[in-house]
Amino acid sequence: ENRVGHGGVGSVVRTGGKVPLGLKSKGLRIVVTGGAGFVGSHLVDRLIARGDSVIVVDNFFTGRKENVMHHFGNPRFEMIRHDVVEPILLEVDQIYHLACPASPVHYKFNPVKTIKTNVVGTLNMLGLAKRVGARFLLTSTSEVYGDPLQHPQVETYWGNVNPIGVRSCYDEGKRTAETLTMDYHRGAGVEVRIARIFNTYGPRMCIDDGRVVSNFVAQALRKEPLTVYGDGKQTRSFQYVSDLVEGLMRLMEGEHVGPFNLGNPGEFTMLELAQVVQETIDPNAKIEFRPNTEDDPHKRKPDISKAKEQLGWEPKVPLRKGLPLMVQDFRQRIFGDLKSEDT
Ligand code: NAD
Ligand code: UDP
Ligand code: UDP
Repeated sequence: ENRVGHGGVGSVVRTGGKVPLGLKSKGLRIVVTGGAGFVGSHLVDRLIARGDSVIVVDNFFTGRKENVMHHFGNPRFEMIRHDVVEPILLEVDQIYHLACPASPVHYKFNPVKTIKTNVVGTLNMLGLAKRVGARFLLTSTSEVYGDPLQHPQVETYWGNVNPIGVRSCYDEGKRTAETLTMDYHRGAGVEVRIARIFNTYGPRMCIDDGRVVSNFVAQALRKEPLTVYGDGKQTRSFQYVSDLVEGLMRLMEGEHVGPFNLGNPGEFTMLELAQVVQETIDPNAKIEFRPNTEDDPHKRKPDISKAKEQLGWEPKVPLRKGLPLMVQDFRQRIFGDLKSEDT
C-alpha cells in the first residue's frame, strides 16, 4: 500500500466491519475539493461509510453545509472553508478534485473566476499531490467535446470547442485542467485519474441552478410551466448520481489513468425529458418554449465501452427510476418549510 506517512490529519480510524457496495475500506486520508456540492457530498457519504478520513475543501460558492452537516462531529470528517485558487498544505493519500461550479448559470456568473478555479485551482491541487505523493482524480466534463461532430462521444475524440464563447471559461478551463493533469503525470510522476462526467442529476442538486433536470422538476412541483429552450430537440444523456460516484471510486482505485467517460448512454431530447417529468410529477404540467442559450451543444451521449472494459463499470439507474428519488428530495426542500408554516 502506497501510503504517505506525513501525519498531520490525525490518526486514521479503521472501522473494519461494515463495507457498503463492494469497495473495501482502506482507511485512507482523502481530500474532496467541492465536497459540499451536489456530487461531492454523495462521494463523501460513500468514503466516510467505507471507513476513510475525509477532508472537504470548499468555498461554498454553490455548495451548502446542509449537504454534509450529517457528518459534523464525526472525527473522520473535517470541513475547511477554502478557495482552491489559493495554495493549501494538507497531508493526504488521495485527492478527488471536484471544486468548480457545474451549472452553466453558475459558471457563467463570473467567467474569469471559473477559469481561475479550473486552471489555478487544479494547479494547486496537483502541486499538493506532487508534494505529498497523493493520487489525484480530476472531474472533467463531457463539455470538453464541445458541440460534438462525433456521436456518441468516444474518449479519443478531440472535440469541437469554441475558444472565445460564453461557455469557454468552463469547457476550455476543463481542457486546460486535463492538460495540467497529464503534464504533472508525465513530468512529475504524479498518479492521476481523469473522469469526463456527463450530465448528472439527483438529490441535493441546487434547486435553482438552472440546469434542465432541476429546472423541470422544480417547475412541475411548483405548478409552473416547464421551460424548454430552443425547439427542445437537442439531446442529453442523464446519469443518476450514485452511478457516477461508483464510477469515480472505481476509477480512483483502479490502475488506469483515463480519461474515462462516466455517463448514462440513455439519450433523451429535452421534450422527451419534459414528458418523463410530466409522467413522474404532474401529467398536466404545461410546456413553455424559450430562446436557447448561446453555443448550446446539439447532442451529447457517452460511449462508455472503455469504462465498461477497464473499470468494470456501467450505470444501473435509468432515468425513470432515478427521477422519483430526486423528486422526493426536491419536494421536501421546496415544500418542507411551507408545510410547517401552513399548519
Ligand atoms: P456543484 O456546483 O454542486 O459543486 C461544486 C462545488 O465546488 C461546490 O460545493 C462549490 O462551492 C465548490 N467550489 C466552486 N469553486 C470553488 C473554489 N474556487 N474553491 C473551492 N470550492 C469551490 O457541482 P457538481 O454538479 O457537484 O459538480 C462537481 C464536479 O463535477 C465539478 O467539477 C463539475 O465540473 C463536474 N461535472 C459535473 C457534472 C454534472 O452534471 N453534475 C457534469 C460534468 C462535470
Ligand atoms: N501547492 C499547494 N500545496 C502544496 C504544494 C503546492 O497549494 O502542498 C501549490 C503551490 O503553491 C503552487 C502549485 O501548487 O502554486 C504548484 O506547485 P508546484 O510545486 O508544482 O510548482 P511551483 O511551486 O514550483 O510553481
Ligand atoms: N434546457 C432547457 N430548459 C431549461 C434548462 C436547460 O431546455 O430550463 C436545455 C439547455 O438548453 C440544454 C439542455 O437543456 O440544451 C441541458 O442544459 P443544462 O444546463 O442542464 O446542462 P448542459 O448540458 O448544457 O451543461
